[in-house]
Amino acid sequence: MEPIETYVERKKEELKSKPYLKEAKIVIVQVNNDPASNSYIKGKIRDLSEIGINYEHIKLSPNISQEDLLKIIDLLNKREDVHGFIVQLPLPKHIDERVIKTSITPLKDIDGFNPLSSFVPATPKGILTYLEDQKFSFDSKNAVIIGRSEIVGKPMQQVLLNKNMNVTILHSKTLTNDMKFYLEHADLIIVAVGKPYFLKKDDFNLKEYCFVFDVGINRIFNKELNKDVLIGDCEKDLGVFFQSPVPKGVGLLTRLALLLNLEEAYKAFVRNKLKNK
Ligand code: NAP
Repeated sequence: MEPIETYVERKKEELKSKPYLKEAKIVIVQVNNDPASNSYIKGKIRDLSEIGINYEHIKLSPNISQEDLLKIIDLLNKREDVHGFIVQLPLPKHIDERVIKTSITPLKDIDGFNPLSSFVPATPKGILTYLEDQKFSFDSKNAVIIGRSEIVGKPMQQVLLNKNMNVTILHSKTLTNDMKFYLEHADLIIVAVGKPYFLKKDDFNLKEYCFVFDVGINRIFNKELNKDVLIGDCEKDLGVFFQSPVPKGVGLLTRLALLLNLEEAYKAFVRNKLKNK
């Protein structure tokens, strides 16, 4: 397998060479002061600048009312010069996440938050496009996903089912023995739990040729380094054929997938424009 970092660099070079992407525009809406969100947005903006894609970062007060946020989303839905936009999570407690997600027009919802969205959410899409690029053989293999969130676990299940895999989702109510059974039969494991080192080598006898994608991003204070470090949901070396690192693993694939979704959104915009001429 090509390391994720070099794969992502290669795909970004491809995107840089597409002149039409210089016409595309993305808007990032932020309604929080969350340090993790600041860092994710910084990464996204770095990618956009590198490729030369136009962007706007709208940073709103966390005290904004839901009604005012919906008005801003409505404007973005209508703006002809905006081809895709995202509303960075988490949202303040007084704002209903579901209402916001479903208010984004499916044509511009490049995070795939709206159930009617035309786009696969960025994390599942990032993992899928990497596996496809690396010629992973999906057909009839066993996939196990730990975690059933709307942005990772559930859409990941759909994506892998569409590739003819046998897919099982595990969650906090899964019994330990069942978890052991499913994991030990898995050819592909996606871990999206949000608990540092949740999956440990000695707890399971994983298949030697297993592929593991560690989605977890846990910020932990390291006493020796005297700073926060990022830890995945999996122990560092599970001794399997492939394990995505944390950092510089699924996070990079997710960022790349957002760019790929924006490219799709822009192409659809141009197609529609030509059709309606
Ligand atoms: P989430 O909403 O935080 O939910 C966690 C999931 O893990 C839930 O489905 C929960 O089960 C399950 N879970 C919790 N404890 C468990 C246990 N003991 N055994 C089995 N399952 C358990 O999920 P998320 O939003 O997908 O986030 C998961 C992690 O991925 C977080 O660390 C997040 O920061 C990270 N993340 C990373 C990226 C990236 O780009 N790398 C993108 C998105 C998320 P229940 O449903 O039963 O509660």
